[in-house]
Amino acid sequence: MKVKEIFAKTILTKTAIPGFDYCINPYVGCGHGCRYCYASFMKRFTGHLEPWGQFVDVKVNAPYLLRKQLKRTRHGVVALSTVTDPYQPLERKYQLTRKCLEALLDAQLSVDLLTRSPLCLRDMDLFKRFKRIEVGFSITTHDERIKRIFEPCSPSILSRVKALRALRREKIGTYAFIGPMLPLDPKPLVAMLDGLIDEVLIDRMNYPNKVKAIYRKAKLDQYLEEDYFRMTGRELKERFEKKGIPVSVIF
Ligand code: SF4
Repeated sequence: MKVKEIFAKTILTKTAIPGFDYCINPYVGCGHGCRYCYASFMKRFTGHLEPWGQFVDVKVNAPYLLRKQLKRTRHGVVALSTVTDPYQPLERKYQLTRKCLEALLDAQLSVDLLTRSPLCLRDMDLFKRFKRIEVGFSITTHDERIKRIFEPCSPSILSRVKALRALRREKIGTYAFIGPMLPLDPKPLVAMLDGLIDEVLIDRMNYPNKVKAIYRKAKLDQYLEEDYFRMTGRELKERFEKKGIPVSVIF
C-alpha cells in the first residue's frame, strides 16, 4: 500500500447526490479495495498508476480546512463519504473522519455516514451528541465467501451486523445499503438485519463490465443478469416491508 500525506485545497464539497448538500472525502483511494468500486474513476484525476486499493492519499489538513469552511456554512446534510470509506484501515491512525465529525458537531450540521467498517464504533461518543446523524452499513451479500471474492480487504459481514447492533443499542439511526447486490439469498440477509435498521437502500451492480471476468471465473455469471437484479430486488423489498422496514430501490 502506497500512502501519501497531502494538503487538500478544499474539503467540504457541494454535491448533487439527492438528499445531501455536501460531501467530505478525507482520503483519496480506499484500503478496502472492493473489486467493483465505482470510485476507482478517481485515478483518472489523481494520476495514480497503482491498482485501486493499493494507494491512499491522506488529506492531513482536512479537519483544519473543514473548520475554516464551516464558518461560512450554517446548515445542510453532509455525506461522509462518497468516493472513499471514511473508516478504512488508515482512519485508525489518522483519525481524520473523527476530527471532521468533531468540527461538524460544533457546527451542528446533519451527517450521513456510510461505511463497511466497525471501526466507526470508536466514534460512538460523537454520534450520540449529534441532533441528526444516520450511520449506514454497506451490506452487499449475506455470504462471507462471496464477500471475500469481491471485497477482499473489507471487514466481515458478521462484524458489520454486530456494529449495527451496537449502534442500535445506543439509539443511533441506522440503515443498510444493499448495493451493489452481489450474489445473495434474500431470506438469510433479511433475517440477519431484522431489528437492526431503520431503512434499506437497494442497488444493482452498475458497472458490470468491470467485474465480468471475476463473475465468470467464480462461475457466478447468472448473478450479473438483469433478471437476477430485478427479482432479487423485488424479493428483498417484499421481505423487508413485511417486517415494517421501509425500502428504496434505486435502480
Ligand atoms: S469501501 Fe467503498 S470506497 Fe472503499 S473500495 Fe469499497 S466500495 Fe470503494
